[in-house]
Amino acid sequence: MKVAIFSNNRPKTIMVVNKLKRLLMNKGITIVENEVPEIVISVGGDGTILSAFHHYLKFINEVRFIGVHTGHLGFYTDYREFELEELVDSLLRDQEEVVSYPLLKIDAYRDSEKDPFETYYALNESTVRRVVSTFTCNILVKDNFFEKFRGDGLCISTPTGSTAYNKSLNGAVIHPTVRALQVAEIASLNNSIFRTLGSPMVLSPQEWVEVELLDPNDIYLSVDNLTMHNTGVTRLRYQIADESIRFVKYRHMHFWDRVGNSFIYLKKNYEK
Ligand code: NAP
Ligand code: MN
Repeated sequence: MKVAIFSNNRPKTIMVVNKLKRLLMNKGITIVENEVPEIVISVGGDGTILSAFHHYLKFINEVRFIGVHTGHLGFYTDYREFELEELVDSLLRDQEEVVSYPLLKIDAYRDSEKDPFETYYALNESTVRRVVSTFTCNILVKDNFFEKFRGDGLCISTPTGSTAYNKSLNGAVIHPTVRALQVAEIASLNNSIFRTLGSPMVLSPQEWVEVELLDPNDIYLSVDNLTMHNTGVTRLRYQIADESIRFVKYRHMHFWDRVGNSFIYLKKNYEK
């Protein structure tokens, strides 16, 4: 088995990576750097997984990911730094157990050009925003005009991204295996003249959303932890990608436990 390690450079992470490398080598597992691995072990936080995903995006159908977190509770990270032995033992018994999660495909167009000038993929979300003056756009669902939006911007997220920025916008938390896209508003303007739906929308996998920018200047476009300014984008098309991300699944993690523990300490307060 070929394994690659992807990590952030915090001192705690570096210690964990060194220990992990020793354990892997002792068990005869090959650590690769310039080859395509079978498994990418991300050590750090959820942000580290996002970076690992973008680093290995070209090989998304070949690699499986696994997260070790060295900070607080992570959404993409199944192992804590004190569970490295268990992780390495599971790697030795690997039977290619996986769980797949949907990705967001973002096609970015300029003017009336037929083909996108760029296609991006997001694991969490993509936002389109303006900072200085009001952001305005038309929103189309499946080629049908839906609404004219005015406000700060929009956030289009995957199910696994639903607990990230989307949640701060009062979006719904979606179980990660549900194939759906969520559109959440960022500070929409609502008054007797301007009106938007005002609540997040969850779209089916057969649908797509288009955002036609009515003033394409000074736009910030984000894809996970990358933000781009003034790309010249005038239209965006969002849909669930054909490709998915595959995570190693050696043991069952109860998603709603993770949500509870991360956001409301469900277990601590639970009384019958
Ligand atoms: P960051 O500033 O460290 O991320 C913000 C927080 O979001 C961190 O605590 C991060 O966890 C956590 N996070 C990331 N993905 C998550 C997920 N799927 N579910 C629950 N929490 C998650 O920056 P970053 O680590 O590079 O992450 C980029 C992400 O930050 C973006 O994709 C966006 O979702 C999020 N963000 C949120 C807001 C907001 O809520 N207002 C604003 C901008 C960006 P770790 O500490 O483990 O990395
Ligand atoms: Mn982070």
